[in-house]
Amino acid sequence: MADVEKKETVIIGAGPGGYVAAIRASELGQKVTLIEKSDTLGGVCLNVGCVPSKALIQAGHRFQDANDASTYGITTQPATIDFKKTQEWKQKKVVDRMTSGVKMLLKKHKVDVIQGEAVLDSDTQLRVMPVGPQQFMSADTGLTIQFDNLIIASGSHPIEIPGFKFDGRVVDSTGGLNLPEIPKEFVVIGGGYVGTELAGAYANMGSHVTIIEGTPSILAGFSKDMVSIVEKSLKKKGVDIITSATAKSSSQDADSVSVTYEADGKEATIKADYCMVTVGRRPNTDDLGLEYTKVKLDDHGIVQTDDQGRTDSPHIFAIGDIASGPALAHKAFFQAKVAAGAIAGKNTANDYVGVPGVCFTDPEMAVVGLTQSQAKDKGIEVATAKFPFAGNARAVSLDEAEGFVRLIYTKDDKTILGGEVVGPGASDLIAELSLAVNGRMNVEDIALTIHPHPTLSEPIQEAADIALGFPTHI
Ligand code: FAD
Repeated sequence: MADVEKKETVIIGAGPGGYVAAIRASELGQKVTLIEKSDTLGGVCLNVGCVPSKALIQAGHRFQDANDASTYGITTQPATIDFKKTQEWKQKKVVDRMTSGVKMLLKKHKVDVIQGEAVLDSDTQLRVMPVGPQQFMSADTGLTIQFDNLIIASGSHPIEIPGFKFDGRVVDSTGGLNLPEIPKEFVVIGGGYVGTELAGAYANMGSHVTIIEGTPSILAGFSKDMVSIVEKSLKKKGVDIITSATAKSSSQDADSVSVTYEADGKEATIKADYCMVTVGRRPNTDDLGLEYTKVKLDDHGIVQTDDQGRTDSPHIFAIGDIASGPALAHKAFFQAKVAAGAIAGKNTANDYVGVPGVCFTDPEMAVVGLTQSQAKDKGIEVATAKFPFAGNARAVSLDEAEGFVRLIYTKDDKTILGGEVVGPGASDLIAELSLAVNGRMNVEDIALTIHPHPTLSEPIQEAADIALGFPTHI
């Protein structure tokens, strides 16, 4: 039997949930131990998610800009990509830089980081099993830790579908981010935000991409008029979008993968260099030993918690992709701070009304709060105001004037309930609307706020002017 170590606050997983919880708990005066099984910190987001995907998207934009330079009277050599160098830049200059930053922050906050896989024995005890060369724990029994408080932030993993085992040329999003070459033919199964973002990135770098989506539209959940702008742009890049289709099977040889799908009652096969399956993710809650605790899961493996992230075991908290709310890094950050605060006795609570959702497509899409139909379903009388980027000088001078900003607000006192942006800079612009939704502001608050000119932020103010009945540039 291994020695038992006693710890105050233990955290499982060093992704956006876990490392932020560790920092906040330390700031609130706790002695924190963070257990991570991978040999890098930062979780999915920094290593194989948000950050590297945005780096590839950026590389695609740079390549497109070089190709489109003649539009602005600029003559360039025909642009070429050395994809090995692109991948090296993504890893060394972006991912490694960000993950080593997390390491530094944890050191600064005196967080004790242990590499190993945590498995719970009970509501107060866990074991850390070695996953790499370890000096300090036995390979058989691991290291046993008794904790006062535990925050679980073990994240999620990609879902596999029948006929598409992740292997060789059939890859998940991690494989899709780390392809050794730019595929000439690339099949993406699943037109959610991960699939569509990477489809666009590879199309910008020269791939012919086919998206196979099971539902009638890609990017389900976003308003139709937003999606149709992104669809038009994908089609312009040569992306084929096949909706209401079922991916049936795949077979591969050394050089290619054949993907068979059914649509409109007919089967068809596409031969591609790679097939990426992005049909969703499942929380990592199966192998944590939760059955030895009072922690309860729902049918999807999500941990049930109260609004502070506390599980049915009062000293165990769950945050991030294993907990309720959208599976997004910024939601994990927030839940991390709430849980660490709750452990420190603070009156914190999660509230998802102001959580923005962003899709880094061309153009970007971002939403927050309620859509018009969600508000109506709740029986709220709403109105909307929409301003197009075509009326915005900055968007026109960027040559990116597709898209719009829409405000969704109550008919009576014009309180802002939601916002939608599709267009240049949507991922940044949505923060203003998150503030408005979160702060229960009304359209007048935005209309009376002077926005700088010429900037992409003006359409938000213009939409507010429209809501008040005094439009300027439309
Ligand atoms: P994770 O980041 O998954 O981290 C969990 C960590 O726990 C991992 O490091 C894992 O090794 C460790 N772990 C698991 N089990 C154990 C154990 N038993 N013992 C020890 N360690 C363990 N979100 C956004 O907000 N914006 C984006 O643009 C975005 N883009 C994405 C792009 C892609 C391709 C993908 C796949 C995801 C993207 N996401 C994005 C989602 C985002 O990455 C996740 O929501 C976020 O990483 C969840 O954070 P987390 O802390 O819950 O878990």
